[in-house]
Amino acid sequence: MKDSFGREIDYLRLSVTDRCNLRCIYCMGEEGVEWKPHGEMLSFEELERLCVLFAALGIQKIKITGGEPLVKKGVVPFIMRVRRIPGITDVTLTTNGVLLEDYLDDLAAAGVSSVNVSLDSLDRLVFQKLSGRDAFDRVSAAIHAAIRKNFRVKINAALLRGLNDEGIEDFALFARDNGVCVRFIELMPLGAASAYEMVSSGEVLQKVSRVIKDLAPTGERQGNGPAVYYTSPGMKGKIGFIGAMSSCFCTTCNRLRLDCLGRLKPCLSSGLSRDLKALVRGGADDAALKEAIRETARLKPEAHIFADRTNAALRGTAMFKIGG
Ligand code: SAM
Ligand code: SF4
Repeated sequence: MKDSFGREIDYLRLSVTDRCNLRCIYCMGEEGVEWKPHGEMLSFEELERLCVLFAALGIQKIKITGGEPLVKKGVVPFIMRVRRIPGITDVTLTTNGVLLEDYLDDLAAAGVSSVNVSLDSLDRLVFQKLSGRDAFDRVSAAIHAAIRKNFRVKINAALLRGLNDEGIEDFALFARDNGVCVRFIELMPLGAASAYEMVSSGEVLQKVSRVIKDLAPTGERQGNGPAVYYTSPGMKGKIGFIGAMSSCFCTTCNRLRLDCLGRLKPCLSSGLSRDLKALVRGGADDAALKEAIRETARLKPEAHIFADRTNAALRGTAMFKIGG
């Protein structure tokens, strides 16, 4: 499936819930979380039907996200079923890691070999301040267990100036000494996040270069993401930069996003979406659903509009609602 700019769309980020067991200050926060009733979310059966159609249209890779996907009961058997859909070559997971250790064996059995764990600080107190919960030890234990069990592990750290940017060097050393990829993410101004200042990838690279000598770009594009990767001789892991704000990686964008309410979004930064749940529950046949998916892909804008802080679509949302 191609969009109107000729980009091949083969990747779907699929949100299975808006619930979460953390309260990251730039995402969900402590206040004002309005849960959508479970009945408003697509069921696993409905999601599976859609995944079959996405696969028929050329989607090969699916990232399960949320909210926190592992708080949703039945998510691992769902992943196993999606992994078996003809045409789907890769199903991975983005998680905050709090419940991950308990699920590692089941995930491996479901065919998941790679996990993205969000961890914004290696300092327990800073982690607690940012995430609203004292869960650092659990997340850290899960990361080490995943490494031991040979998962490919990527750690995603969103940086907020003055809050966790002092820990950049610690993350770099962690990537040096462990076989993981640490990816630094520029904060995007969605909802609560717009109250915080992002730290640019260029600045982070400078800081990292102070503790890791001879850092050089690997030139590779790993998985499905927009990250640029660096490593240096003797480093066990890698360092990645997701410069969502300072660089435009949209020319290679290959993704669609389905939120937990069944809205298919052509771009994270845009207010456009197509209500697939209404079609599914209104009795649409497979052909109509496929056409709706194709139409949404055709709506993909050429580039994101994060720089436009007046964009109401950005202010009124948050990553846990869209599926980060
Ligand atoms: N709960 C899971 C987790 O934390 O990995 C999955 C969903 S979470 C919304 C996915 C990712 O989005 C996390 O790495 C989080 O740091 C990131 N995120 C949330 N809000 C963001 C923002 N405004 N800008 C950049 N990244 C953001
Ligand atoms: Fe939850 Fe992930 Fe949002 Fe943090 S970033 S509140 S873990 S959904």
